[in-house]
Amino acid sequence: MTVEPVTPESTLPYPPIHKDKKFVVLSDWDGTITTYDSNDYMTDNLGFGKAKRREGNLEILAGRDTFRDGFRKMLASIVAHGHTFEECKEILRANIKLDPGFKEFYAWCKANDIPVIIVSSGMAPLIRAVLSNLVGEEDANDIEIIANDVTVHPDGKWEIKFRHPSSGFGHDKSQAILPYRNLPNPPTLFFFGDGVSDISAAQHANLLFVKTKLDGENDLAVYCQREGIKHVLFDDFSKALPIVQSVVQGGKTIDDILA
Ligand SMILES: [Mg+2]
Repeated sequence: MTVEPVTPESTLPYPPIHKDKKFVVLSDWDGTITTYDSNDYMTDNLGFGKAKRREGNLEILAGRDTFRDGFRKMLASIVAHGHTFEECKEILRANIKLDPGFKEFYAWCKANDIPVIIVSSGMAPLIRAVLSNLVGEEDANDIEIIANDVTVHPDGKWEIKFRHPSSGFGHDKSQAILPYRNLPNPPTLFFFGDGVSDISAAQHANLLFVKTKLDGENDLAVYCQREGIKHVLFDDFSKALPIVQSVVQGGKTIDDILA
């Protein structure tokens, strides 16, 4: 699977680019900032179940299905089981937890003028609901979210509204990163991810952090190894923070870290 050369048209707006920063953090949400992927959680517990989900994930990784279509099937199975969007929101608020090091990581970035932008294939209203529950209203409103959206129909059924419906990724995450790379004085870009939804972004960061998964669902790590994309493995954000600090404070270069 490769990133499409054509810029896909976006159905949803982007926040303005931070033009004057030396460093920018972009991070996946599900399974990276959270300990468990909320869409996987819903599919496993409210939709067609884990075995079918993993089958679908592996089809995507093998290039036999697109992320967009595989993901749409997962979410449709939740709707088919009669679960409303509001119900899903409440279930996720009760069950999804934050990476144990993220709050401290975010506070350090904020204190050091480093924007943190969530780049997600999930649906923005669900991310906001869970984020405000975990980090509080103020920080939740500060953190930018570039994600997909949802359409809720009058009969209560709902479906994902993809940011890039013409892209096989649904949300082509490279489109959140590339405008930074194209600035006259581009910032150093840190990207954090864990899964197949991050494949579109993986190669565009200056320093890519890939989260190791205890459950063996190391899909992004497998992809990066296969494609020869250099990256740093991390268990949680408390392990990533000293590495980011060493680059920001000039103790180490990215080449040192990737060597
Ligand atoms: Mg993820």
